[in-house]
Amino acid sequence: MSLPSPHPLSRIVVAVDGPSGSGKSSVSRGVAARLGLRYLDTGAQYRAVTYWMLQNKVDVEDPQAVAADAGTPAIVSGTDPAAPAITVDGEDVAAAIREAEVTAAVSAVAAVPAVRARLIALQREIIGAGGIVVEGRDIASVVAPDAAAKVFLTASEDARAHRRNAEDGGGAGTVAATRDALTRRDDVDNRTNTLAAAPGATVVDATELTLEQVIDTVAGIVVHAAEGAVPPGRSQGVGLSR
Ligand code: C5P
Repeated sequence: MSLPSPHPLSRIVVAVDGPSGSGKSSVSRGVAARLGLRYLDTGAQYRAVTYWMLQNKVDVEDPQAVAADAGTPAIVSGTDPAAPAITVDGEDVAAAIREAEVTAAVSAVAAVPAVRARLIALQREIIGAGGIVVEGRDIASVVAPDAAAKVFLTASEDARAHRRNAEDGGGAGTVAATRDALTRRDDVDNRTNTLAAAPGATVVDATELTLEQVIDTVAGIVVHAAEGAVPPGRSQGVGLSR
């Protein structure tokens, strides 16, 4: 009888899914940096395709028009957690993809099956032999269902709105306006990918935790998974859920 083989850390795939404003990016980068893993931000790729569509005057509300050009932009993602990079047709778009215009259009573009098929193939290519933390919405459910560590990161709507507003430097308006924008995006995103934990994912509620505490928690889950052990609290979730 053979025992299940452990997943060495250097080959592990860590899926971090969750809604906007849950702190996914900071947590995923922090965990990757701490454990010496690569990092992939799949949301940045959907944003990059959206940026290209807007630049090229494609009507983002027309799924057929978006599908027709889904394969045209050349998207290159860096995987260094210390310096996340993304280019479209060779142009560095790391800052431009965070603009409000892109944020407002990205859910519609991400809902187009041809865009998803293309980016999922690219994501699987980057994941390759593993050793990577991948953040998104559908990583544990679709992109890498065999990931050894699956985390669903969440936080209360209030906490998410405050965090996103602070990240935007308060420039996008009040916390209430940020919360409305988040809820709208969640609604559209929910039609594409259920914003719920995939089977086997550990739910981490970041509402009352500091960034450092969430990184500690997720890094602990990853190390346990790499050792082939079931982390404590896998079935009931960890953190201060209520
Ligand atoms: O994570 P972030 O908020 O940057 O993602 C931007 C958008 O990209 C999401 O609102 C969602 O529409 C889309 N997305 C997706 N699947 C992923 C990652 C992001 O549909 N794996």
